[in-house]
Amino acid sequence: MSNENTNSIADGCVVTMHYTLTLDDGEKVDSSVGREPLVYLHGAQNIVPGLERQMAGKAAGDKFEVKVTPEEGYGPRVEGAEKVVGRDELPPELEVQVGMPLSAQTSDGAEVTLYVTAVSEDSITVDMNLPLSGKNLNFDIEVVEIRPATDEEKEHGHPHGPGGHHH
Ligand code: ZN
Repeated sequence: MSNENTNSIADGCVVTMHYTLTLDDGEKVDSSVGREPLVYLHGAQNIVPGLERQMAGKAAGDKFEVKVTPEEGYGPRVEGAEKVVGRDELPPELEVQVGMPLSAQTSDGAEVTLYVTAVSEDSITVDMNLPLSGKNLNFDIEVVEIRPATDEEKEHGHPHGPGGHHH
């Protein structure tokens, strides 16, 4: 972020913003409106690539819509990545809910995250796809504040302070 242009979003800016995320069918997935705004470090891949790319050059007070394709969002959906798991294969104390991430190990010992997509009395369905993969993301954005990142924030790759990381 250069000194003569501190008003628009560029690499090395800490951006505070409100967002509402909806899918093409109108389903509202998430929103910061009425909650704490989102704070991120621009250029550090804190947010999905398609959103970050389209935030560049925007100024505090700007309100706009951003459309992000799966390729620049949570990736394309991989078919056949779903698996039904019997309740008897799960720890009995585990309370499973749709949308919940579960860690599992593949046969070669790699750690993978699976997302619960369905729950029934004797089994659950898990999917290796991220819940939002394969979907267009429609963001309503309002830029609240832009400030230069500190050296420590740049080194860590995330913002500190209110709305940021606490160590
Ligand atoms: Zn940090």
